[in-house]
Amino acid sequence: RLSMRLERVATHVPAGARLADIGSDHGYLPVALLNRGVIAAAVAGEVALTPFCAAERTVRENDLEDQVSVRLADGLAAIEAEDAITAISLCGMGGETIRDILEAGQARLSGQERLILQPNGGEQPLRVWLMKHDYRIVSEEVLRENRFDYEIIVAERTGPVEYTAEELYFGPLQMQARSPAFLLKWQRLLGKKHKTLHNFERAQQAVNEEKRQDVAQQVRWITALL
Ligand code: SAM
Repeated sequence: RLSMRLERVATHVPAGARLADIGSDHGYLPVALLNRGVIAAAVAGEVALTPFCAAERTVRENDLEDQVSVRLADGLAAIEAEDAITAISLCGMGGETIRDILEAGQARLSGQERLILQPNGGEQPLRVWLMKHDYRIVSEEVLRENRFDYEIIVAERTGPVEYTAEELYFGPLQMQARSPAFLLKWQRLLGKKHKTLHNFERAQQAVNEEKRQDVAQQVRWITALL
């Protein structure tokens, strides 16, 4: 069984895909999708030995060695041209880490793959990278599990796309959809940002003015959104 978070990620993987799950840990996502007959084949990439071995074990126990290649590799280096990958999932990592993996692995991207990203924070810098590299955000969601707010960002390279600073901050589609989970996330964050500003004021001169301005700007955006 997948967590609700990975279950939501799974819904964005197209039927018949050849999936590269990078940072796969136990390999649960590709194995579940193969067992359900949703995808045709998968690569599970892991940079660390313990999760790499865990992924190998999951694949072996499910008799999926012919359909899943488990590879010990840094980021997109797990992907070979012959894999003919059509979807890449990068889940459960910081948005900056996901961005850095995409940036470092650009040569491994054909541009035809759908990217299914589930950052834990750092969504804004990730969206900036996507925009700069001509990826359009085709689907987005916020979900809450175990008292954490998670985001899922699905992107496809379609050509130049322009997002405003607020769209990059909140997510262009989420801003329009205004789902209950999205609004709750930002209500909670607004409380935190107010606290940060308040602490800045108490600390007075010690605080970097640029940082204070940045948080004040975020508070204005969130207030306007809600
Ligand atoms: N994707 C799974 C999920 O969402 O449940 C596992 C998430 S786990 C918190 C993050 C995994 O990413 C860890 O197993 C870590 O070793 C792996 N990882 C981090 N940086 C990586 C990189 N550059 N290349 C491959 N794997 C990486």
